[in-house]
Amino acid sequence: MDVPGTSDAAAQILHRVFGYDSFRGQQREIVEHVCAGGDVVALMPTGSGKSLCYQIPALVRNGTGVVISPLIALMHDQVTALRACGVRAGFLNSTQDPDERRTVEYDFLDGRLDLLYLAPERLRTEPALRLLDRGTVALFAIDEAHCVAHWGHDFRPDYLALSVLHERWPTVPRIAVTATATRQTLAEIDSRLGLREARHFVASFDRPNISYRIEPKKEPRRQLLSLLRGEHRGHAGIVYCLTRASAEKTAAFLAAQGFVALPYHAGLDAGTRALHQARFGREDGLIVVATIAFGMGIDKPDVRFVAHLDLPRSVEGYYQETGRAGRDGEPATAWLAYGLADVVAQRRLIDESDGDLAHRRRLAVHLDAMLALCETAGCRRAQLLAYFGEVYPHPCGNCDTCLAPPAVWDGTVAAQKLLSTVVRLERLRGPSFGAGQVIDILLGRKTPRVLSYRHDALPVFGIGGELREAEWRGVARQLLAAGLLAVSGDHGTLVLTEASAQVLRGQRQVMLRRDVPVAAAAARAGRPAAAARDGRPTAAARDGKPATPPPGELPPDAGPVFERLRTWRAAAAKEQGVPAYVIFHDAALRQIAASPPATLTDLAQVNGVGETKLARYGQQILDILAQDGT
Ligand code: ADP
Ligand code: ZN
Repeated sequence: MDVPGTSDAAAQILHRVFGYDSFRGQQREIVEHVCAGGDVVALMPTGSGKSLCYQIPALVRNGTGVVISPLIALMHDQVTALRACGVRAGFLNSTQDPDERRTVEYDFLDGRLDLLYLAPERLRTEPALRLLDRGTVALFAIDEAHCVAHWGHDFRPDYLALSVLHERWPTVPRIAVTATATRQTLAEIDSRLGLREARHFVASFDRPNISYRIEPKKEPRRQLLSLLRGEHRGHAGIVYCLTRASAEKTAAFLAAQGFVALPYHAGLDAGTRALHQARFGREDGLIVVATIAFGMGIDKPDVRFVAHLDLPRSVEGYYQETGRAGRDGEPATAWLAYGLADVVAQRRLIDESDGDLAHRRRLAVHLDAMLALCETAGCRRAQLLAYFGEVYPHPCGNCDTCLAPPAVWDGTVAAQKLLSTVVRLERLRGPSFGAGQVIDILLGRKTPRVLSYRHDALPVFGIGGELREAEWRGVARQLLAAGLLAVSGDHGTLVLTEASAQVLRGQRQVMLRRDVPVAAAAARAGRPAAAARDGRPTAAARDGKPATPPPGELPPDAGPVFERLRTWRAAAAKEQGVPAYVIFHDAALRQIAASPPATLTDLAQVNGVGETKLARYGQQILDILAQDGT
């Protein structure tokens, strides 16, 4: 229960230092438990505010909070952001020279640090352990705690050594946090870090501010362009591609269309990658086109969209990648274009992958779950959360299927026609064919390939005139997704599955989603951001704050003020060499522009304006607002 005084102290720090006036979700309970010396394991989604869960106890408790983080590239920015709030923070990692390190070490030993960030490999060295012995440690925070788990994909051997923390400092509270949600991972965190006795906090993994949209892939670049031009002009975002080559090409394409877009993939040298990541962090409105190599360690709060031009391999991957959007709780878009070729390509990757049958089965199970998410006619959010074992009680109102429910049609006859064509081709025992040839046959097209193999003589030739080519591709894609059709070999050859027989014999009905033409779907969906606010509260509304207008929805006369504030912020950020959001988040600037404060006291009420920032920037902001009146 509450420790007398702790609760007040924590709430005061939340307000005074960070400029927020209420805790979110389970933050208060976690903070109080750690302040009182208890251990915590917290599973909370990205953007839910995990950092405050250890930063505030570090400020409340005596000594320095030691944060173990694998994200060396981020430490500098994290420390900069804390210092901007007046917190005495420092880090120790391999990027520093000995002098810098020594300064930080003395600060720690002399009790001049509230927070100290460390890379996990440091804790393998005796000097680092002795250093910690000689200072006062308020708590240990283990960030990205899933890195201790073999089960996941971010395993770091150095994390295993973190069991030393409890053995060496049994009375110092530990808090392990992660946004990775599976049961296996949790079990490993508990056992490897000796945290079974810790209090566990598991938040819902819903990200209500993210609007999920999955649409059929037609002309992916044009579709992407219309998303960016229509809804995300000037916004920062990530576009994921499957291959390095397509990441390069797409970045070049977007750049040619006037966007600031940079590629990021494992084929670029380390320097270029670091530069592109740094620019993404610092500049406003930059787009990174990346393979999955770009990910961990993106804690930019104002990523407004994550677009996938290729199908992710698993729901976990999709959730993690889309989760990089909207950490700040403001409306954001997760958009995916997916088509028949994706299914064929992914199935082939699995067939060709190294590893035993069990491994390939596991990959197939992952892919099937992802396909089911793509093909569902129900609420995407409900399906996504169901995958993580959560029940979402009602349609969310903020995904494409909720906003524009897809029509479902009886595709049994179409499926039978397509499967019969596959049967006929199999019986010929000639070369094998992919979906393209099957569809040409159904449509009765006398292409050179059709004629040269005499496929125009097949009884199925031309029996599919009732559907257009795109519709047939939709049928094939959905049959593949449902396991009623399979691909084999490296040419994407279509083959039957055991379940196909039931369809051919008329024992199984096949209901299909009707692919909505892209433009129509977008028009019907309307502005997802608006739906997000009507449907479920944004983070700001949950906190009982006056709602911050979402991006693009400022009162008309506030637009120019907002832009002036952004210009000022960009200049200030550049001068200090920090990312713009370290100065103020967009949400704070929008709130200021929407209802301009007249005094410093009014300004202090804005979410995200703490004492230090008020003292440092308050007058400058009031001056900018005053210019408006003249
Ligand atoms: P996580 O690490 O869980 O992804 P962060 O700790 O980076 O999330 O927090 C996400 C954003 O939410 C940050 O911009 C942070 O300042 C903000 N935030 C956290 N807690 C609160 C709160 N109680 N009130 C308002 N904003 C908050
Ligand atoms: Zn929904």
